[in-house]
Amino acid sequence: MKKIAIAGSTGSIGTQTLDVVRERGDIQVMALTAGSNIRLLEQQIREFGPGLAAVWKEEDAASLRTSTADLPVRIVSGMDGLLEAATIPESDMLVTAIVGMIGLRPTIAAIQAGKDIALANKETLVTAGHLIMPLAEEHGVRILPVDSEHSAIFQCLQGEKGNSIHKILLTASGGPFRGKKREELSDVRLEDALKHPNWSMGRKITVDSATMVNKGLEVMEAKWLFDTPLERIQVIVQPQSVIHSMVEYVDGSILAQLGTPDMRLPIQYALYYPARRPLSGRRLDFYELGTITFEKPDLETFEGLRLAYEAAARGGSMPVIFNAANECAVAKFLNRDISFLEITQIIHECMVHCTCKEHPDLDEILETEKSVREWIESRW
Ligand code: NAD
Ligand code: MG
Repeated sequence: MKKIAIAGSTGSIGTQTLDVVRERGDIQVMALTAGSNIRLLEQQIREFGPGLAAVWKEEDAASLRTSTADLPVRIVSGMDGLLEAATIPESDMLVTAIVGMIGLRPTIAAIQAGKDIALANKETLVTAGHLIMPLAEEHGVRILPVDSEHSAIFQCLQGEKGNSIHKILLTASGGPFRGKKREELSDVRLEDALKHPNWSMGRKITVDSATMVNKGLEVMEAKWLFDTPLERIQVIVQPQSVIHSMVEYVDGSILAQLGTPDMRLPIQYALYYPARRPLSGRRLDFYELGTITFEKPDLETFEGLRLAYEAAARGGSMPVIFNAANECAVAKFLNRDISFLEITQIIHECMVHCTCKEHPDLDEILETEKSVREWIESRW
């Protein structure tokens, strides 16, 4: 039986991972962690029976200890708790379903402890891909992509060892504001940004999809996962979210992975790789679908994608600045403190004003994050 730990089990990816575990019934859950949703976490503990669970605040841990007193589970808290869950000796794999750079230390610790990583937490690779990828190689662990586009690319790479990638064709839905011009985005509401046309996801990534910062993060994620230079990663808007991404080889042959927009598929592929397992749910029906269309992304309106390419090309800690600024700005937008267009404005200003370091180590990455947050707090 495969044994896993999940960081962020109460979120969109976390709950869908548990849906797969429930449906297949042959994976054992050794540890679960969540931010603050202790009611759902308690239900998950009762259903899946992990020996360890972690929450962020000690006060939440205390109340969870009381409510699960009848169960053989140990409840821990804070970053130490998260690290303990990520490295629990009984598990083979960590599913990083936590949102944001907070996933960095648990992911690194899990790799050092020899765990394979089912990676949903893209912020980790964006900010520390230069540390994570060599570390994974050093420890002989696999980084298995959960992000649908990266899972698609990974699937298109199977059996192609030794063959050079000419281009990665990273598809994007375009989000809820596809086709709009910049002027039309000045007064969009939070509710509009949270209405993704094809996917139901956590709030942060849903806003990232509306700004297309998400696609920018995914370009950087692809660069690290598949060791491919930026100029060979092309974003293509494919509004139906049916083609999850494609790989073009040197001979001009293009392989694509298609399916309904259902995150359980890439999650399951990462959990059972290289095996495929049956999966319930809707299947793609080409008669019903009729057409698949393609567009070039509008980099003027969706400045976040352009800035991401710039940050990635600059390298050093610039992707950290980009990502930290985005996390901070999106939190403010979700709190209705800033407007939609201010998200990318803040990212841009941080990229201009914050100090970029070469080859940042983990401490420098975390220091950069802190200084970006302080810089934003002092101005917005
Ligand atoms: P979400 O907001 O739905 O869930 C986030 C999880 O992280 C929750 O369980 C939350 O409790 C936990 N968490 C947040 N702060 C925490 C803290 N301080 N300590 C401990 N736990 C904390 O997010 P999501 O949509 O599931 O996304 C998770 C990650 O997966 C993100 O990096 C996202 O970019 C990536 N991703 C998500 C999807 C999707 O369909 N949702 C698709 C591709 C990639
Ligand atoms: Mg994606």
